[in-house]
Amino acid sequence: MEGRTRIHITGIVQGVGFRPFVFNLANKYRLNGFCLNDSEGVIVEVEGEEVDAFINEIRSSPPPLSRIETIITEALPGSGAYKGFVIRESVLQEGKSAMISPDMATCPDCMRELLDHKDRRYRYPFINCTNCGPRYSIVLDIPYDRPKTTMAPFNMCVDCEREYRDPSNRRFHAQPNACPVCGPNVWLKQRVGEDVVSDHSAVQKAVMLLRDGAILAIKGLGGFHLCCDAANNDAVRRLRDRKRRSNKPFAIMSPDAETAGRFCSVSEDERELLEGITRPIVLLERLSSDLISDAVAPGSRTLGVMLPYTPLHHLLFNSPDKRFTALVMTSGNLADEPIVVSNNEAVERLSGIADHFLLHDREIYMRVDDSIVAQVPGSTSILLRRSRGFAPAPFLIGEEMADILACGAELKSTFCLTKGKSAILSQHIGDLTNYEALEFYKESLKNLKNSFRAGPVIIAHDMHPDYLSTKFAHEYAALEKIAEEMVMPVQHHHAHIVSCMAEHGLHKEVIGVAFDGTGYGTDGKIWGGEFLAASRKGFVRKAHMEYLPLPGGDRAVKEPWRMGLSYLSHAFGDGMYDAHPGFFERLNGRDVTTVLQMIRGNINSPLTSSAGRLFDAVSSIIGLRDRITFEGEAAIALETAAYSSIDRRGLAYPYRIAGGIVCLSDMIKGIVEDVRQGVRVRDISFRFHLTLGTIILDASRNIREDSGIEDVALSGGVFQNRLLLTLTRDMLEDGGFRVWSQEKVPANDGGVSLGQAVIAWERMKEEG
Ligand code: ZN
Ligand code: ZN
Ligand code: FE
Repeated sequence: MEGRTRIHITGIVQGVGFRPFVFNLANKYRLNGFCLNDSEGVIVEVEGEEVDAFINEIRSSPPPLSRIETIITEALPGSGAYKGFVIRESVLQEGKSAMISPDMATCPDCMRELLDHKDRRYRYPFINCTNCGPRYSIVLDIPYDRPKTTMAPFNMCVDCEREYRDPSNRRFHAQPNACPVCGPNVWLKQRVGEDVVSDHSAVQKAVMLLRDGAILAIKGLGGFHLCCDAANNDAVRRLRDRKRRSNKPFAIMSPDAETAGRFCSVSEDERELLEGITRPIVLLERLSSDLISDAVAPGSRTLGVMLPYTPLHHLLFNSPDKRFTALVMTSGNLADEPIVVSNNEAVERLSGIADHFLLHDREIYMRVDDSIVAQVPGSTSILLRRSRGFAPAPFLIGEEMADILACGAELKSTFCLTKGKSAILSQHIGDLTNYEALEFYKESLKNLKNSFRAGPVIIAHDMHPDYLSTKFAHEYAALEKIAEEMVMPVQHHHAHIVSCMAEHGLHKEVIGVAFDGTGYGTDGKIWGGEFLAASRKGFVRKAHMEYLPLPGGDRAVKEPWRMGLSYLSHAFGDGMYDAHPGFFERLNGRDVTTVLQMIRGNINSPLTSSAGRLFDAVSSIIGLRDRITFEGEAAIALETAAYSSIDRRGLAYPYRIAGGIVCLSDMIKGIVEDVRQGVRVRDISFRFHLTLGTIILDASRNIREDSGIEDVALSGGVFQNRLLLTLTRDMLEDGGFRVWSQEKVPANDGGVSLGQAVIAWERMKEEG
């Protein structure tokens, strides 16, 4: 190439080692010129023989943490302007924003140094470089520079400073760069006895305490974990008793994929998920083994396993005193509160749970929980909780948008901000009815709004009038003086479907199948088993599950037998006692009478078409769960049972679709008949899943017939059920449909805010 070339690279290209990478690459191809960070990315100007090869290599093998969105090249006149290749000072413009990288797991180079006794960072718990380490959790503001991170109080020593200034060094402008001389420290605060201060002995002592069955609160990357030896029954039970009296599985951490393979089945895809730089919790099928205490995940088919992702984690597993197969690493919080991040908060709130505290003095600015993923066999992986390692990486919408704030749902809340062509989905925040979670929501919003220089002029929110996110939307609009017509309610299931469309860049109309627990409908009823003809702007409700009473509202969610009774009463009337005596024998007669009065007298029994509640009902009718201790427990039990069904040639149960209403009474009768015939629970569960897949295919065909739409988007929390997802996808594809499901955005309410933002933008365009 003759002359000079200017290359503008956008995306996540700052704070991820991009400039040293370009520097080294320019030297490799003997190019002269410079590179610098500007407000929107990296600018490179080069001249030399091999510019094309240089650009190709930027494109094909960029630094591991970067995410290039665009590379624009421009020929410049003249030549011979440069001597050598240099990195220039950053140029920043007001109102523009570069993107903050998510936090990333310790890289192989740092790992090597961590375990090398000749290295000056040997066993130093805060080793990092431009390819790894904390980012989002420590950034106070942009541009991403050390004074604007929680590393500000630590002054680099001469050696660290030298690395930081050297463009050819892996730590060039690594903002969290540190070493034992100048960086943060770990210490162990013991319940009884002296605090242990030095990094080495604190970690060593912690390992010994864990070995002896203690429970520790350990400060991590995005928050605290509660930790104990996962093989130690006593310790795990004690943790379960102290933390919460439920069966909710604890996540565990294992030193490597090979070790995890001793107690879980780990496919090639799953190994990649475990070992990837985002290091999420991966749901793995457990093998029968006594390596992990049963109290880790009582009755669960799967275990949530992650690998170490900070140097401190690695040190816990690299001790001469004990080689743990796995450590329980559950979020350090109480009940539904957000994960604890500060030392004081930890000692205050977690002292009823933890025996000792492994603390450090690098502050966590943004809390980010562990993310959760699962592999769908023969397909992609799905994200069940999007947080550390993923947030706040943006989704590209493909067009310039106004600045929008979408406030999300309520229970698994996230919010979404748009800026330019990007939609920034917040990390998982949790249940907003919890005061601390709502504070966390506001705090994260303030931070992301600032970092991305977003000034929302449109506010989108769920149609549910009582959601705290809805109330927040109105408060925010009032405070920011945003006109009422710019505050847009969005129907919950429409948002689910558009979230899926946005993820896959779909613009044409789709058949939207939204199956979830609860969402406010346009008729004021509780929706959740919905078939929509949907565009990014609007939808028509084409079909839905039949409305049934939800006796006791929220109480029915915790007590699946109530919904079971609702379905039985609907299917059999008073014949239900004779049809399914087993169900009534299990339950308290007085409770049944009361709830039946509610159902039949229309007392505190809102109508619902929820597919999530249908799972509850069936789970109870076949005797799996009458009451639950954590959200989704009944549905998970049903999926678990179905997975072990051997009789995969079973047939779907009968049902009827008439006038857009899916009537399930025949299915309920079929299930009850199977129970009476002594058909195994697992086979009934499988047939139930198959029936839902058949219903979806049938309803989709009906919609295709009168609309011609051939794309089906599946969303809503029920599609985190991997068996249902796989069955449905296969059946729809066999039926000639193109099928889209959520992969990088959670199918549950954590993805709703993205859909809201896109819908609000489409409406805005329409209205001008
Ligand atoms: Zn590194
Ligand atoms: Zn240093
Ligand atoms: Fe939902």
